[in-house]
Amino acid sequence: MTTPPVCDYEGSDYQTSFWEKGGREYEDRTEAIALQRLLPKRGRLLLELGAGAGRNTPRYLGFERIVLLDYSRTQLEQAQQRLGKSDKYIYVAADVYRLPFVDGLFDAATMIRVLHHMADAPKVLGQIKNVLGSGGVFILEFANKLNLKAIVRYLLGRQAWSPFTLEPVEFVELNFDFHPKAIRNWLKGLGFKIEKTLTLSHFRVGILKRVVPVGLLIFLDSMFQWTGALWQLSPSVFVRASRQGGKKQEIPDRVLLFFKCPDCGHFPLIEKRNLLECTNCQSKWEIKDGIYDFREHVRNGSFPPS
Ligand SMILES: [Zn+2]
Repeated sequence: MTTPPVCDYEGSDYQTSFWEKGGREYEDRTEAIALQRLLPKRGRLLLELGAGAGRNTPRYLGFERIVLLDYSRTQLEQAQQRLGKSDKYIYVAADVYRLPFVDGLFDAATMIRVLHHMADAPKVLGQIKNVLGSGGVFILEFANKLNLKAIVRYLLGRQAWSPFTLEPVEFVELNFDFHPKAIRNWLKGLGFKIEKTLTLSHFRVGILKRVVPVGLLIFLDSMFQWTGALWQLSPSVFVRASRQGGKKQEIPDRVLLFFKCPDCGHFPLIEKRNLLECTNCQSKWEIKDGIYDFREHVRNGSFPPS
């Protein structure tokens, strides 16, 4: 099955180079504030899409269990080191265009700094809708093409693409900015109700970050976040939406019952030692060192069971 291209962070030191040594304290802490404002106080099972090395995971305080999903296995290994192996965290390497979960499973999902890399955003959003139960909360961060800097550059003739049109702009290969209205249209079209919008990173300007104390920038940004309800002109936007309709189903205790076959949709899968298997289409996937890996099939004979 072909899906749009994925941006693969396999083997990347993104967590260290971008977040820990990249002067991103302002972005990180303003995201923490936004999450606190948007997250449900408690819940049973949260899906973190594009969890990476688990930077945001400890912020999902009220949830009993969290599924960390990422396309990169090495990012998940870093998350395991950070968070540890316990029943609370379930690590899944998979493609967001083909989510391996049964319909209506989760009571919440988050996707932060990920849609940015999606060539087919509506397809991804549709997958997320399917795995959320009725009333399930979805917190989405996206990069906003309608930001002040882009508007000024466009009006001065220093930027070819228009920030005012609804289509996404791919400014670097596999890096997309979206129009807030396009995101709203997609979410509403899928039956989501938009409950809150916050704008972030109002002061993501090199000179400000150098001369103004970071604590002050964070405070000001936290105040400005609320203006997202009125207009969205900052580079980063958070939306809280809830799924309308659909089924409300019991969340199973057994992790095995979370999964469906991403190839044919059959469930439940069966677990054999270090493999998951679909009894309908015979696809098999590996479970290795606590990571469920749905990216590539295990082929008969080519994989030594341990
Ligand atoms: Zn199957």
